[in-house]
Amino acid sequence: MRRRRSSRILATLGPASSSREQICKLAEAGVDVFRLNFSHGSHEDHAERLRLIRDIETELGRPIGVLMDLQGPKLRVGKMAAGKVTLEAGRPFRLDLDPAEGDVHRASLPHPEIFAALEVGTDLLLDDGKLRLRVDAFGPDFADTTVLVGGTLSDRKGVNVPGVVLPISPLTAKDRADLDFGLSLGIDWVALSFVQRPEDIREARELIGDRAWIMAKLEKPAAIEHLDEIVALADGVMVARGDLGVELPPQQVPVLQRRIVRAARAAGRPVVVATQMLESMITSPVPTRAEASDVATAIYDGADAVMLSAESASGLYPLEAVTIMDRIIGEVEHDPAWRAALEASHTAAQANTPDAICSALRRVAELLEPAATVAFTASGFSCLRASRERPAAPILALTPSMATARRLALAWGVHPVPFEDVGDVGEMVEHAASAALTLGFARPGDSVVVIAGLPFGRSGSTNLLHVARIPSTPGAIPAGLGNMRPD
Ligand code: PEP
Repeated sequence: MRRRRSSRILATLGPASSSREQICKLAEAGVDVFRLNFSHGSHEDHAERLRLIRDIETELGRPIGVLMDLQGPKLRVGKMAAGKVTLEAGRPFRLDLDPAEGDVHRASLPHPEIFAALEVGTDLLLDDGKLRLRVDAFGPDFADTTVLVGGTLSDRKGVNVPGVVLPISPLTAKDRADLDFGLSLGIDWVALSFVQRPEDIREARELIGDRAWIMAKLEKPAAIEHLDEIVALADGVMVARGDLGVELPPQQVPVLQRRIVRAARAAGRPVVVATQMLESMITSPVPTRAEASDVATAIYDGADAVMLSAESASGLYPLEAVTIMDRIIGEVEHDPAWRAALEASHTAAQANTPDAICSALRRVAELLEPAATVAFTASGFSCLRASRERPAAPILALTPSMATARRLALAWGVHPVPFEDVGDVGEMVEHAASAALTLGFARPGDSVVVIAGLPFGRSGSTNLLHVARIPSTPGAIPAGLGNMRPD
């Protein structure tokens, strides 16, 4: 059960990692949350992967989170004659709504909303930014452009319109069908792609309610302009560096990564740094030194999680990628400079009771050096506020809700423990001590710090902090501990 590290690993499943044995090995090697990428694979593929994860979770006795990543309104050109054409710099090129196959003069762009949002001088990026077109003239159903950077344009390549807010919903018809499916399966997190505005999160929340937590993928410059509001409305955020690095020049990605991590940490929302972290491991059993350093930087910055995409989904070395990520995190978290960096980047708590308790938790953990802190949590709220503080001792999240336990698997420093509900404070302290002991976080005679909200079970009611010493001869472990019963 016990993970020694505080930072989490999120790994994408795909053809390279879909057997029971592979998923189990990845979970044992360090994956805390699995990502099901709905840009690829059928519903049957994802349902089977989820079924295997839930089986493995029971076997390992540790809650495992599952994040469904919706494709979102990814814009694409249509088909090209013979599959691909070569565009030359300086030549004119037209995009239009005609579904006919494209050639060196024109291509289909079946998205009228793009034409509606263009201006003369707007740049359109094709195929992850490899080709660049500049708009010279446009109408409701066409854009005449000049090729600024040429290259090969093949069928259905992606189109990015940096700096333009497109009047489109973050959820396409496909996303809505996928979402219904994912929610019916009981996924824990939903990642929304190409979020542009705070309203996008509200729109998703109306559909999702509290059936899953929402992660806003930050990959559009427009979203960065509303960063604090989007962070506040979402339950978590992802620095989606793949598309972010297409929409913006690459030199801006590290600056924005740090800004997003800081904003999310200040708001107490789990933040994931994603894409190309160990890219070379798609084909190599070892990472480059620069990649190892990239993972380490995210951990020093205090991100909740680092993510693997193709490395674990379709690469040749998924297990090696998770293993090295786990080792890099372990190495950083043993560096005294890591704790110093977390302290230096800590932001003040809000002036309310739960934050005051969590702030005290951090201070008590620093002064008393308890073996563990234990948060009793129903919705996960108090636990996220405690995680926001980045305390020096692990946070055991004792929760009667399996859904909460799985969602919290992504949060920095949190070790979710599904648990029967408790009746009174005495029982609570007893359970906290037993959990810390049984799960290997504490030994007899150690102290634990407990936080909870009275009355129990009301979200946001955290109002109690209790320091307890584990008796040298503890009694029997209370029933229900680690019981992985579904909600
Ligand atoms: C990204 O763009 O970095 C990302 C995580 O999204 P996707 O993998 O869906 O492109």
